[in-house]
Amino acid sequence: MKVIVLGAGVIGVTTAWYLARAGHEVVVVDRQADVALETSFANAGEISPGYASPWAAPGVPLKAIRWLMMAHAPLILRPKPDAAMLGWLLATLRNCTTERYAVNKRRMVRLAEYSRDRLVALRAETGIAYDERSQGTLQLFRKQAQLDAAAKDIEVLRADGVPFEVLDRAGCVAAEPGLARSPGEIAGGLRLPGDETGDCFKFTNALARLAKAEGVRFELNRRVLRLRQAGGRVTAAVTDQGDIAGDAFVVALGSYSPALVRPLGLRLPVYPVKGYSLTAPIAAAGLPPESTLLDETYKIAITRLGDRIRVGGMAQVSGFDQGLEPRRQRTLEHCLESLFPGAAELSRATYWAGLRPMTPDGTPVVGGTGVPNLFLNTGHGTLGWTMACGSGRLIADLIDGRAPDIESADLAIARYAA
Ligand SMILES: Cc1cc2nc3c(=O)[nH]c(=O)nc-3n(C[C@H](O)[C@H](O)[C@H](O)COP(=O)(O)OP(=O)(O)OC[C@H]3O[C@@H](n4cnc5c(N)ncnc54)[C@H](O)[C@@H]3O)c2cc1C
Repeated sequence: MKVIVLGAGVIGVTTAWYLARAGHEVVVVDRQADVALETSFANAGEISPGYASPWAAPGVPLKAIRWLMMAHAPLILRPKPDAAMLGWLLATLRNCTTERYAVNKRRMVRLAEYSRDRLVALRAETGIAYDERSQGTLQLFRKQAQLDAAAKDIEVLRADGVPFEVLDRAGCVAAEPGLARSPGEIAGGLRLPGDETGDCFKFTNALARLAKAEGVRFELNRRVLRLRQAGGRVTAAVTDQGDIAGDAFVVALGSYSPALVRPLGLRLPVYPVKGYSLTAPIAAAGLPPESTLLDETYKIAITRLGDRIRVGGMAQVSGFDQGLEPRRQRTLEHCLESLFPGAAELSRATYWAGLRPMTPDGTPVVGGTGVPNLFLNTGHGTLGWTMACGSGRLIADLIDGRAPDIESADLAIARYAA
């Protein structure tokens, strides 16, 4: 079968890989000159099934008011007269109940755990390298109240059999010795030893090279304009340089997916939520994190990527604008310096902003649609790197008519109709 994958971020490239391994002819189309140049470019580097949680959670609407007013705000809201923004915000609020949170979190953990296992298998099979580390991640609580509030997440981890450790300050320092120099309060932490880290951009590029060797064709510098239909099926992707015909189509355009499928009657509730990162060389051995640390106060992750430190986070709801705001850069620096002072050469830091393709329930949209040969693999929000391999493999299985290894019906777009 000839399968056209639209989008060459980490989601599109992993999809292409698993499709090629299943014996399909695969073409990947992207408007950029290379792969992983949009949201998959400089994310925080966490492969974190244990922290796979929807942002829409009980208590979040009240917390959001406090976050909006913090000097180093984890949440920034720029309301606009935009029906998509308003609809997405209201739908997110509706997911903040205890019941919805439990359902959404379980599905995210299921896909994320599966995805991490697929990544480990892919590494063993191909030897792919991407500054990866398998040393777990540490969620750091500066306040006791934050540690207490983690109890409900711990319950889910326990119920799902995900290994975890609850640590006091000394335990946090033992896990991340660089924290010994932190001048700030540390109440404790939740460590997930099964989590991993790595550079998503390096991974996507390395996997694209392996995919090319498997025969995958990359059509880059090519903008997808719409999908051509006949007889109730998609027949071609219409691009700015002509049509690309195929037997099946996978939409993996991140935040830009809804606009492409809307003319087919599909309402995909994916909205861009901007995040920021900085990347800087390590200043001296012994000072930087060993793995990933997630600062619960600022919702910022600090990750060791080889000889660099990546600091990423914040959620800015402001449409498709990708501007870099100096104030957000200061927040990243503040978080890093308050936990790992002097660890990075900030004078040589580079800064980046990207748009997370967010669904209101936190779960990505992975699966078929009412159009028999059209598949969606998008809306991975905060955890696209974590969920990429599992999502790619799942779509390849569905296209092949094979039963996926995990339950997948509730990941498809049909869940919104219900
Ligand atoms: C600050 C930040 C930190 C993050 N940290 C983490 C983390 O630690 N762990 C984690 O798991 N996830 C993290 N994420 C989320 C993760 O980066 C995303 O979920 C993931 O990159 C989404 O991948 P994607 O392939 O769906 O989208 P993208 O990488 O954006 O790929 C979509 C592709 O579609 C192409 N495209 C769009 N429209 C068109 C068109 N019309 N024609 C042709 N091509 C088009 C784009 O060029 C792009 O290459 C973070 C995100 C941010 C912003």
